[in-house]
Amino acid sequence: MVPNMQTHLIEITVPVNGVPDLLTYSIPASLHQPYLVGRRVCVNVGHRKVVGVIINDQNINCPPQVTPRMIDALLDESPVVTQAQIDLCRFVAEYYFSPLGEVIRLCLPANTPRNLPKDFDADKKKKSRKSKTDLPPEDVTATHLELTNDQKNVIAVILAAGKIPLPTFSKGDLEAKLNGEGLINSPLKKGGRGIFSTLDGSPSAFLLQGVTGSGKTEVYIAAARAALQENKSVMVMVPEIALTPQLVHRFAAQLQVPLAVLHSGLSKTERSKTMLKLLNGEVHIAIGARSVLFAPMPKLGLIIVDEEHDQSLKQDGNPRYHGRDVALWRAKHENAKIILGSATPSLESLLNVEKGKLKLLLLPERIGANGLMPHVEIVDLKLRSQHQPSRKKDRSASDGQRLCILSGPLKEAIALALQNGEQVMLFLNRRGYAAFALCESCGHIMQCAHCSTSLTYHQKSNLLRCHQCDLVRPPLCVCPSCQEGQMLYLGLGTERVENEVALCFPDAKIARLDRDMARNHTKVKSILADMQAGKIDVLIGTQMIAKGHDFKGVSLVGVILADTALAMPDFRASERTFQLLTQVAGRAGRGENLGKVIIQTFNPEHPAIQFAQKHNVKKFNELESESRKLAMQPPYVRAALLRVESLTDQDAERISQEIKSVLHQQIRAHQQLLSCSALGPVPAPMARLRGKSRWHIYLRAPSIETRAHLLKTIKQNEAIQKEIKRSKSRLVIDVDPFLLM
Ligand code: ADP
Ligand code: ZN
Repeated sequence: MVPNMQTHLIEITVPVNGVPDLLTYSIPASLHQPYLVGRRVCVNVGHRKVVGVIINDQNINCPPQVTPRMIDALLDESPVVTQAQIDLCRFVAEYYFSPLGEVIRLCLPANTPRNLPKDFDADKKKKSRKSKTDLPPEDVTATHLELTNDQKNVIAVILAAGKIPLPTFSKGDLEAKLNGEGLINSPLKKGGRGIFSTLDGSPSAFLLQGVTGSGKTEVYIAAARAALQENKSVMVMVPEIALTPQLVHRFAAQLQVPLAVLHSGLSKTERSKTMLKLLNGEVHIAIGARSVLFAPMPKLGLIIVDEEHDQSLKQDGNPRYHGRDVALWRAKHENAKIILGSATPSLESLLNVEKGKLKLLLLPERIGANGLMPHVEIVDLKLRSQHQPSRKKDRSASDGQRLCILSGPLKEAIALALQNGEQVMLFLNRRGYAAFALCESCGHIMQCAHCSTSLTYHQKSNLLRCHQCDLVRPPLCVCPSCQEGQMLYLGLGTERVENEVALCFPDAKIARLDRDMARNHTKVKSILADMQAGKIDVLIGTQMIAKGHDFKGVSLVGVILADTALAMPDFRASERTFQLLTQVAGRAGRGENLGKVIIQTFNPEHPAIQFAQKHNVKKFNELESESRKLAMQPPYVRAALLRVESLTDQDAERISQEIKSVLHQQIRAHQQLLSCSALGPVPAPMARLRGKSRWHIYLRAPSIETRAHLLKTIKQNEAIQKEIKRSKSRLVIDVDPFLLM
């Protein structure tokens, strides 16, 4: 239809499954105002009323036989999403094969605009009234440290970069990128400069590699201060914001400006308020977990990604984006500087250093403990378990001994630390009490009814719990399968470690921090504050307590079982174990005293453990990248996981077989796809999850473009899509996957 005089065409995106990314609607001429893009509208899609966002209001072609529907209402008086955010979302949708409507939701003030937001009017009022700013907490004083020479040098390089700004991107450039030029490896244009470089050739993207406790945070703060002084805004991304209130404190105390803190614990209203403050330019610095990436940041000047190697930067549900990778794109697109920081950089980032896309900055020395790294001792559990008494039938409190939760050396070290009034941290990567319940006569293991995983016993709540779907069951004494054997509760969890420590050290003040606790943000905060204040002697937790904490009183760190991380179905298992151990070890000896670390393991010879003991990041990375290259795994190839989730195993198998054969046809038919490969289909390691059967195919390609081509072929294959719909199945495409489960 040719739009008549009274209407005007717009393109919107809605968070509705199975509809195209862009829908064309018409808007009455009376509402056709400047700055429509980024405002919300209420529209009818099918028979549902939903909230959409205007993506485009110019040059919209509509096929003549189609009469676009009229919108119901225009909801905002001014845009709530910036053009930069829309560009970002279009990139994420394209790169990760996610529906645009699903991505754009991450930018909206209230996170669930599927229906008309109830607090919408309230939001508008707040927007017009200038809101109170969050001043930094009063209990922190602005401390000014004399920076070390290493810190000064690093900061100088960062500040010197990008003195001459890049030309801003034209629509055409963006289009070119959206059309598969991809993440961070595309030069602007043929013959143009690399996107990472500025005119004078000094790159604006940095990898700050500094051992734990080397003062990286001070560098972040200095860079942030400089950006703020230039009237630019700053984004700080950390793996888990709720667990690092300390970092927020340090930024607030030193910069003395209000901060916008975004995390999953915020209510909808709090989140809306915070997002609007950023949008209106009332607050210039945002700190959050990966979703901070989608915040409105007018005049973005700097992005900091702390712990850039951390796997929790990769989102485990739709859209399955990687916070670091998208941050690189956003920085480039908005011409901002970016600092990726880590003690143990990812192989992806190291490869980008090699390719000249990131500039490597080093902080080689620790600041506390006279620059000394903690002493790491490995305890071989194989030898120790041979000396254990034979398995008793009853499960008594002493089975901690039998399981060797605390080996002799670890127990002695804890005793010594406690005697000296020092703090101890103990790590185990599994929460709960016992890892599984097993029948001693028939061997039956209690499984989740919906997932192919065993149930974990939690003693405090006295329940068996599925860590995948959260199903709970009462524990049983007698086997439900053979009806006669007694159930044994075996394997380790953090709760059991807590029990054992309490048993061995009855006078110690003990606390536990894991995901069971983390649901309660107030509780987490108070535990961390108590730890900081020295009110806790022993803190037990999963890897979540390994991240970024700076407890000066900790002199001893114990890793109860290093092998759990090695056993994950993941080509990064070794890299992750190394990173985790190094990270964990970095928690020890951050004050005056030299720290000590004890790693208990059944695999003392494993390179991840050996090199972590020697603090040899470089050697480990060399070895690991060599083996990844040989195995043709990322970062040397571009991978994607295609997973079919169906009601029945047969459906999942059949559909994934079809997908595989379409992929093969494509690969064989095109010269430039010959080095692509598709493995599988096989049942996923987690073959059943929440009642669905899962089969997957692992796709590897030499480039982003070839991978995108193959994925598009599947997405656009009508026969496959029809079959998926008919069988009520789902195809999950995970681009740059982490866990291959
Ligand atoms: P990282 O982020 O690399 O782990 P931090 O920035 O947390 O390191 O620094 C480790 C500790 O050293 C912190 O307690 C910090 O306050 C202190 N620190 C950092 N820089 C300096 C400095 N220049 N002088 C004195 N102490 C410093
Ligand atoms: Zn389950």
